[in-house]
Amino acid sequence: MLNGINKRVKRMRIAIYGNDKPTSSKVASELSKLVNDSKVLELDELNPEVVISVGGDGTLLSAFHHYDDMTEKVRFVGIHTGHLGFYTDWRDNEVQQLVESLEHDNGQSVSYPLLDIEVNYSDEGKPDYMVALNESTIKKMFGTMVAKVYIKDYLFESFRGDGLCISTPTGSTAYNKSVGGAIISPKFNAVQMAEMASINNRVFRTIGSPIIIPPTESITIVPQVSLHNVLTCDQLLVMDRPIKSITYKISKRRIYFAKYRHTHFWERVNNSFIGDNLND
Ligand code: NAP
Ligand code: MN
Repeated sequence: MLNGINKRVKRMRIAIYGNDKPTSSKVASELSKLVNDSKVLELDELNPEVVISVGGDGTLLSAFHHYDDMTEKVRFVGIHTGHLGFYTDWRDNEVQQLVESLEHDNGQSVSYPLLDIEVNYSDEGKPDYMVALNESTIKKMFGTMVAKVYIKDYLFESFRGDGLCISTPTGSTAYNKSVGGAIISPKFNAVQMAEMASINNRVFRTIGSPIIIPPTESITIVPQVSLHNVLTCDQLLVMDRPIKSITYKISKRRIYFAKYRHTHFWERVNNSFIGDNLND
């Protein structure tokens, strides 16, 4: 019989993930005090339902990778303590409002596509599987990177240049944008490949423009073996083994953000890149 005696408030489990800047530490300790004092929230770094990153986009990327085996169970929230903060919806002076929103949480979320990366090595060891929130790049530290690019199993081009950048829609405003890729709304389940300084002349030819693939396709890059190839996954450097091939596709997994307030994607893009410069 449930007469209320056995009723116990189930607290929502919160993890706080900050960078080590003094402003972030201050916000993180203010936040953990408010969570500790709350009757409906509790701190749980190991098995959180909501992860709050305190810092900038780099911090949110690290938080994502820290909890990347739990992406289906966790929702992220970003508090912004300086820098750009494309992924972060809350300012550092809004900690109180954020805690109130957490206390009234009803599971609302918004989700975005992720990038699956499979790396095969020429040493015949086991492949690596990774997931990126922004992008993965394959570059060569010096000299020209030479690689075959396949779409599905179709040999599409031979690439020569600095490297290639394969990004998600939410990552399309990061590295991808710097190398001339398009900004893609995260409502598209898509992956984009953009070139970094490709060599194009009578002898060597690449497509020259960014390409975008749907969930049914994949991109495989087979770089010419070199000790100087560098593979990245978001802010992380991946390897010190010789790479045979890398296959990219849209992940079946997605990242979830707690949607207490929702900044429209294009407003977010405007805030980050145009701001007040809307002159006549
Ligand atoms: P960082 O050097 O601080 O990142 C470069 C800038 O990109 C920062 O202003 C960062 O914002 C911003 N940023 C990150 N993700 C973004 C996104 N999805 N949309 C718009 N801007 C974004 O290094 P980091 O903070 O560790 O971030 C790693 C990311 O840097 C990589 O995933 C890559 O996208 C990017 N990156 C860009 C270049 C380039 O444009 N040439 C070169 C290397 C890496 P915060 O200031 O809030 O951190
Ligand atoms: Mn950063």
